[in-house]
Amino acid sequence: MNHPWKSTDEKRTIVFSYMPDNNIIQYLTDMRDLINRAIINAYSMAKSNNNQIPSPIVLRRSLKNYYDNNIDYAKHHINPACRNAIAILRSYKKNNNGELKIIRAERLAMRIDSELIRIENNKLRITIKPHEYEYIDIVDKNKKFSEYSKYKLSEVLLTDSKVCITFRTGTLNKPVMDDNIIGFDLNFKSVDYTIIRNNEIVNVDSIDTSDIAKTQRDYARKRTKIQKHIKNPAKRDRKLKEAGNRQKNTVRDKLQKLTTEIVNDNSDKTFVFEDLTDIKKKGKKNKKSNNDNKKYKDNNKDSRAITGGNNNKNNNKNNKNNNNKSKRFRTDINRWPYRLFQKLIDYKSKNRTLYVNPEGTSSECPVCGGKLRHPIWKESKCINCGVTFNRDRLSSLSISVRGLYLCGTPFTVSGSSSWHSMKNNYLYHPDHVVIENSSDCKKYLHGNA
Ligand SMILES: [Zn+2]
Repeated sequence: MNHPWKSTDEKRTIVFSYMPDNNIIQYLTDMRDLINRAIINAYSMAKSNNNQIPSPIVLRRSLKNYYDNNIDYAKHHINPACRNAIAILRSYKKNNNGELKIIRAERLAMRIDSELIRIENNKLRITIKPHEYEYIDIVDKNKKFSEYSKYKLSEVLLTDSKVCITFRTGTLNKPVMDDNIIGFDLNFKSVDYTIIRNNEIVNVDSIDTSDIAKTQRDYARKRTKIQKHIKNPAKRDRKLKEAGNRQKNTVRDKLQKLTTEIVNDNSDKTFVFEDLTDIKKKGKKNKKSNNDNKKYKDNNKDSRAITGGNNNKNNNKNNKNNNNKSKRFRTDINRWPYRLFQKLIDYKSKNRTLYVNPEGTSSECPVCGGKLRHPIWKESKCINCGVTFNRDRLSSLSISVRGLYLCGTPFTVSGSSSWHSMKNNYLYHPDHVVIENSSDCKKYLHGNA
């Protein structure tokens, strides 16, 4: 199993302009001199070692004596100065086919490590020398400042006109609610979830997302039309791009609303999702891998049903012309945006989001561990229990159970009394027939006639 939970350890930066006082200008000038001295040191070390640029730590060792004896700024400032010097040399080497030369840093700009910065009463406090501080008023025009400032400071970039304060907003700062978990299975026309609270399954339900699926389909149709009817290639590409952008914005808006609602309704819970980050690669390479490309199948099935033969013809044509780019464009844009959904929830939830290994969530019965068969897409039949479950809801139960396992509080479905009262909600009910479009409707009527 993968690492229990992934930390994206995201960072957020706010930037504002300021007027530096003389002390800060002096400090920035001295630091620029230090960086230039560090560059000369690093250059000569590289020259005597096959053009290999030393690491910042090795460089710091070579500068430490000089720094201790000549510079009275706080000791920590030597670290970013060395990192900066190495970064400048590395980027020069990279852009000049491995050549090296002594470059002079001209700009007044310095990174300051978190040890030397603090925020006090809307002021940024920088330790310039031991027990000597510089204060800069924080211009918090940025609406996000009050939100980000709850997090740990990561670093500050100071120039002679701007201050950039970076916060570590990583998910590790968020708590895990291991006694209140909501696991989601994401599907094309619905998202299905199971809530397990205090070792009891307390709810299972589905949220209708056919509206988003419909938007994707409508735009797919629009783009097919554009492709067919606009002969001028430049104009056609422009129109396709415009439609693509409108589609992205519309879907994003809908997802924003949906995820805000979901997070507001479940603000006390930890969200659990399948970790889909590798699925793109796996799904395309390994068509056989059972459930990894489940989302693809679902998706393809849908787009086929809608555009009918046209889509296939186009695909063939594209393959013949080796026009993979536009094919990829089409499949990407038709896909239900699972990752965006997860990211938005993750960002909005005040609790940590867990990502579980997706392997086998729809091939293993969460009740008894038996093998699941899928006679049709929406059904999961357990060979062992002999019961036919609603596939998507059963997956959401698996995902919740895996989430709890990650928290170190394993949950046995069959052993829980809540399972027996909730079981009906997981069974497959073939009572409603979803009619996809008019041609399906005719088929349906025909078949019954
Ligand atoms: Zn079973």
